Amino acid sequence: MGEAPPIHELHFDEAPSVDTVPGPNSRQLLERQRELDSSAVAYPDRVPIAFDEGRGATLRDVDGNTYLDFFAGIGVLNVGHANPYVVEAVNDQTERLVHSIDFPTEPRLDLIEKLDAIAPGGLPGNNKVVFGGPTGSDAIEATIKLAKYNTDGDGLIAFRGSYHGATSGALSLTGAKKFKREYTPLLSDVQYAQYPYSFKHDVTEEEAMERSLADVRSILEDPYGGLANPAGIWVEPIQGEGGVVTPPEGFLPRLKEIAEDNDVPLIVDEIQTGFGRTGQWFASDWEDVTPDVMPMAKAIGGIGLPLSATMYREEFDTWEAGGHVGTYRGNLPAMRAGVRAIEYIDRQDLLEHAREVGEYIRTRLREVAEATPHLADVRGKGLFVGAEFVDADGDPWKEAVLDVQTQCYENGVLVWTAGRHGNVLRIIPPLVLTQEQAETGMDVVTDAIAAATGS
Ligand code: PLP
Repeated sequence: MGEAPPIHELHFDEAPSVDTVPGPNSRQLLERQRELDSSAVAYPDRVPIAFDEGRGATLRDVDGNTYLDFFAGIGVLNVGHANPYVVEAVNDQTERLVHSIDFPTEPRLDLIEKLDAIAPGGLPGNNKVVFGGPTGSDAIEATIKLAKYNTDGDGLIAFRGSYHGATSGALSLTGAKKFKREYTPLLSDVQYAQYPYSFKHDVTEEEAMERSLADVRSILEDPYGGLANPAGIWVEPIQGEGGVVTPPEGFLPRLKEIAEDNDVPLIVDEIQTGFGRTGQWFASDWEDVTPDVMPMAKAIGGIGLPLSATMYREEFDTWEAGGHVGTYRGNLPAMRAGVRAIEYIDRQDLLEHAREVGEYIRTRLREVAEATPHLADVRGKGLFVGAEFVDADGDPWKEAVLDVQTQCYENGVLVWTAGRHGNVLRIIPPLVLTQEQAETGMDVVTDAIAAATGS
């Protein structure tokens, strides 16, 4: 086989098509989950639905309702649900061999070669890739170990508004207090610089960027800056959970300069922004930045298989055999899926497609913003889109976003939320979303915004 079907062949035809939701079968499963599952379960409270099947950028629930998927499993399903080009290789590999720790296999080495070919900046031909545990958080833990090992430092510089994961090291780097409040103390020496973000627009984007860069510089260079032994700077090129906060041009290259001036690695967290999400293979590509270390996860597993990896500049490859381990560092179906997903994105020209469809979505949102002051900001790159809502006083308006989300769900479009105050609508569909689907879905989203904001 090996045929990569065009994107318009991937989806359920009749999306969106919803009756009254949640339907009886969804209700039953939601009830069963409430009885059996952990109280940590969060998402179905907001979007009460039980899924049955996914195809491309569409999802079907257990009552036969079909939705347009504008959240892609939180940025995981870049090539769409059950992409047949990927599924074929996964099935073949599952029947052959699934688990290989780190013995050499073709899928593993093929994936490393593919990652090298699409790596940003000066990384191609000058990198190593390490696999560990399967989650993004696991990859972040690897970056902390790598940075500490190579610098002999232990101080971590991260940003306010950041999200890097749920394990202790990753939580230490995470700005969001709600995830960590009950678990402190975490890693002790972490400083959080301001990210280039001006919610109240009291400063321009450029001023916010200068403020942020000055903050990082002062943590590193002020003799009384507080962090005695820095090990690295961790940054999301676009803050995802923090609200699709998109820094102005110049931010990432200048941060890299600061890292170089101070001889610490720049760790660019491409876990949510990678594999075409922003219309480039990696968000670092937009300004040709070379991350020193680059954790990846989410879309690397193609159709949602758990896999993460950390790429780093070759000079950091100093640890000894066993320097970073993990039982699940050889998930071969996920590695085959990663290879196929990269090929699919390449063959279907999905980077350009993501830029075009993403710009269409932002344009539709900007048109709405002209009609209502409640839609205060539209931002993002490629198919990573954020829209920030404020109330009549200009304060964050979380309820409006939740109303938009509910109304979209009732009309067959699944959107997500984000933001420090939960007041950002996050739209991150599979990159295989067609232009027609984007138009249909945005009709639903814009109607929902008008209803939720009374505009
Ligand atoms: N880093 C970023 C930028 C993320 O968006 C996430 C998850 O949303 C993570 C790290 C953690 O990944 P995981 O949830 O797979 O542990």
